[in-house]
Amino acid sequence: MGTVVVLVIVFALLLAAAMPLLRFNRKRTGIMRSAARATDEQLECVYLAIESTSAVPPTCAVLARTNRKSDGPSRVPIPPYAVIWGGRTVVITAGDEPSFELADDGVTEAVLVGGVYRILAVPRHQTKSGTSRNTFAPSSYLTGNTALLEALRAVDAGHPAELLAYLLSAGRDSFEFDAMFQARIGGSASWVQGPVFLSCATCGKRLQLGLQLPGSLLPGKPRPSATYYLFGCAAHPDELQTVEQFD
Ligand SMILES: [Zn+2]
Repeated sequence: MGTVVVLVIVFALLLAAAMPLLRFNRKRTGIMRSAARATDEQLECVYLAIESTSAVPPTCAVLARTNRKSDGPSRVPIPPYAVIWGGRTVVITAGDEPSFELADDGVTEAVLVGGVYRILAVPRHQTKSGTSRNTFAPSSYLTGNTALLEALRAVDAGHPAELLAYLLSAGRDSFEFDAMFQARIGGSASWVQGPVFLSCATCGKRLQLGLQLPGSLLPGKPRPSATYYLFGCAAHPDELQTVEQFD
């Protein structure tokens, strides 16, 4: 009898300990299902409601999720407004290590391991001191933006903010935003370990971020804990140096 009581208590304690994780996973699965059911038009409403808030022209972008597939090669076209490689395409090839090459193929659609991603211009705002700043945090997009809130609620009525975080961090299936898992075109790097500074092989100037790509989005062997940072020179468009960091 005593053993049964002890077993019941142990089971109840285990269940209590597991509940937060179960709730987290149920919420995550629900948000992912909502996103998977969203139409192109619904997601486009979300993305346009973000881009329309930019006060000054954008200089960088993030790759946002869509439900479209492509059997084309992995590649990221760089929008013309990007400081590094604007108008060109970064083509990614699988190997022992992924390799990155610049091409002038005029493609407009970003494809990573069979999924199509929407190039979303990152809103840019003027600070009080007169300089401009990129806004990457999805939570700040929602402030006072009823069009965005409505567009998100049309996809998942219960979790609009979490859905937005999921849509904009393509590198990890979570509703908790982490900049490290964003695929970024230009702007500032979100470093996994610490910042790395590189110089142009031709002019010696400090290189700028061209692309940040979570390893989970790259072709070849799975690299879920890796993040790749590609750097270029504004004056020398063929310069490309890569940094890989692990979580
Ligand atoms: Zn240079």
